[in-house]
Amino acid sequence: MVDERAALLAKFVAPLRVEPGSKVNLAKDFDPGYKASFVKKKEGAGILQAGVALLGEYQARLAAQDTWGVLVCLQALDAGGKDGTIRHVMSGVNPQGVRVSSFKVPSAEELDHDYLWRYAQRLPGRGEIGVFNRSHYEEVLVVRVHPELLDRQKLPPSTRGKSIWARRYREINDWEHFLADNGFKIVKLFLNLSKEEQRVRFLKRVDLPQKNWKFSAADARERSYWDDYQAAFSKMLSNTSTEWAPWYVVPADHKWFARICVSAVLAQTLLDIDPHYPAVDAAKRQDLAETRTLLEAEAPKGAAPDPFQVELAASHDGVAKAKESKQQRKQRKMMKKLRQELVRR
Ligand code: AMP
Ligand code: MG
Repeated sequence: MVDERAALLAKFVAPLRVEPGSKVNLAKDFDPGYKASFVKKKEGAGILQAGVALLGEYQARLAAQDTWGVLVCLQALDAGGKDGTIRHVMSGVNPQGVRVSSFKVPSAEELDHDYLWRYAQRLPGRGEIGVFNRSHYEEVLVVRVHPELLDRQKLPPSTRGKSIWARRYREINDWEHFLADNGFKIVKLFLNLSKEEQRVRFLKRVDLPQKNWKFSAADARERSYWDDYQAAFSKMLSNTSTEWAPWYVVPADHKWFARICVSAVLAQTLLDIDPHYPAVDAAKRQDLAETRTLLEAEAPKGAAPDPFQVELAASHDGVAKAKESKQQRKQRKMMKKLRQELVRR
């Protein structure tokens, strides 16, 4: 079952992956409006639910082991859908195992350190999923588009030449390689929005009072740097998609489709790690057996010695299968359909 799901997700996710070493021209190579023809919006909710459930299941297993951690980096232009994606895709995971960190304009204290310092402070531990809402990639995006931000970073003058961007790409790749070698899987997602869809989403923020807070005049100003950002993103994707930390370009004009893509990439990462609950050794089994005996002896008069055992036995008899909820059945059918469509392609 796991292998089957992994194969399915791998196929779904493959077209989004930026081949390490390839030269990306964002406008030419990736369509923000793409939505796989085999998924209809109506089915989207069910598929996302299945992805969310799978993530929840695997995150619990990840949390139970102590070798691997996962770092998710989310990048997008304003109104790209980062917040909503996190809200929806992570909705099925235990908040205790996930930490979301949002990165804004760096503080005075942060500027007094090297440019990776503040990101290093927010890295996940083993067993955890860390989500970066914006990430160290801002250091080659917004900072590249607005070189005056570099002036605030207090760098030695001799390091401020043209080669600074090539050097930052290398430093970031090296840092991520180090993290990967030490047990941290890195997933990098770029929500790729079209200029027209950004205009529409900005207008929505202007028109709807409950969305006003999300809009700032600065966002509109940034929009005038659209082409510079596209160029900066293209160079970033070309230089920092690596075997140990590849980039995925997620078509973001259709929110529902973007969310499915993100949940698929994350689920595939966790399936790849394939975390397991720690094995129970003979001593522990002995411990458990003794505990059961003690607890069973405490059963009050008339109560089953171990009511849960009774439940368990019943579910083994296939009662659990009959209890599959409507929702679960819908999800299972959805996954089956998606699988068939993928095979047919
Ligand atoms: P938001 O994500 O909408 O809350 O906005 C955060 C703002 O912080 C964006 O305008 C980013 O461009 C800006 N920002 C994030 N990281 C950096 C950085 N390293 N240097 C300068 N500005 C940044
Ligand atoms: Mg904003």
